[in-house]
Amino acid sequence: MQTQRDPSALHADMLARRSRAERIGFVPTMGFLHAGHTSLMEKARALCDHLVVSIYVNPLQFGPNEDLERYPQDHEGDAAKCAAVGVDTLFLPPELYDPDHSTNVSVSDLADGLCGASRPGHFDGVTTVVARLFGLVQPHVAVFGEKDYQQLAVIRRMVRDLCMPVEVVGGELIRDTDGLAMSSRNAYLSPEERTRGLTLHQALFAIRDAEIPSVADRISLGREILRADRIDYLEIVDAETLKPLRDIDGPARALVAAWIGGTRLIDNIGL
Ligand code: AMP
Repeated sequence: MQTQRDPSALHADMLARRSRAERIGFVPTMGFLHAGHTSLMEKARALCDHLVVSIYVNPLQFGPNEDLERYPQDHEGDAAKCAAVGVDTLFLPPELYDPDHSTNVSVSDLADGLCGASRPGHFDGVTTVVARLFGLVQPHVAVFGEKDYQQLAVIRRMVRDLCMPVEVVGGELIRDTDGLAMSSRNAYLSPEERTRGLTLHQALFAIRDAEIPSVADRISLGREILRADRIDYLEIVDAETLKPLRDIDGPARALVAAWIGGTRLIDNIGL
């Protein structure tokens, strides 16, 4: 595995590989890797010749009072995990944007509700960094996790709307043995907070399994189970459009974002 820190050198290497007809696979991350990340790498590994993983904590997708400054980091441990799953290039740029970077990519509609409503500007930061990373890495295929269900939908829309020649593949949400959706941010949780964090998936599972026709009643049931300090949202939406549903008459998704102490957790499940 090679580690590349220089964006221009990475770009040149990728263009050379493309000209040799190598199929490039890509998994972008913010590091502090866990089994959710490595499952995406394994999925991508099977779809390409040369697998690139990036680790970059993108300031553009953090709000002013969010956890950018304390986002957990472990480059050594991350590199070992990447090597173990057969990553070819680990892209670790100290900086990704030119000082006079002036282009932003913004997806409307799909990015407006849910996390877009509670984290203004977040998805603009995500689509801008992913567009730039796609430009640098030139992947044929990129894998994103269903853990960030809305993010996956927003990126698919960006790729479709801008005719980016990248196949976007979703990877299933990976949970810890206690059911908590794996997340780098779980490292912030005290034992007591982690116990309350478990109520996110418990609420979602109850919503999925309830034999209640009314969407509003299912959401009330979920809210009774949640032991969060604040709920940003708990919604049942159309799995494609992400619009809130009144009745479940097709593929639907329940999504939650809630604060446990100072940590914002998200989770979702198919209904
Ligand atoms: P992050 O490092 O949090 O930006 O995540 C990088 C990628 O890993 C994104 O595509 C996430 O959706 C994905 N990911 C994070 N946690 C999980 C998980 N528990 N299961 C599956 N994918 C995940």
